[in-house]
Amino acid sequence: MISKILDAWNLVEIQDPHLLDFSKQAYNWCVTWFGIPVDELWEYEILIASMSGCSRQKLFKYYTIYIDKRNKSIEQKMAIIAHEVYHRVTIPKNSLRRIVWVDEMVAFLVSDRILMMSGLEQYAEYRKQKILERCNNNNARGAQGTA
Ligand SMILES: [Zn+2]
Repeated sequence: MISKILDAWNLVEIQDPHLLDFSKQAYNWCVTWFGIPVDELWEYEILIASMSGCSRQKLFKYYTIYIDKRNKSIEQKMAIIAHEVYHRVTIPKNSLRRIVWVDEMVAFLVSDRILMMSGLEQYAEYRKQKILERCNNNNARGAQGTA
């Protein structure tokens, strides 16, 4: 039954033991940094989907972490897992999540730190450079529009 639901929604559950181990390590680091969530017993699953995110399934008491299927490399998947595991740990902590852009900024910084601690310094640096390029391009476009 579950597999039919997953098929219908084009969802694929992550089975890669390396990614699953990585998610557990990321979870442990997030718990160390942000504290044990009140719903610590709730499991989480990781699915490949049409967009990335983390959702809390209150009725069934578990979390689902989604990885956008456009992210093909192991490094991209690890970055998303680290980001979304941060949300998994902090979603029940309202004080950390009052302002969305602050929450997302912290999620990025946490995922960056986790990538660095996992030996992916080069990928973390590449990711930061890509974001800076995007910001610079947006600023250049904005400056052209106001000139
Ligand atoms: Zn996020």
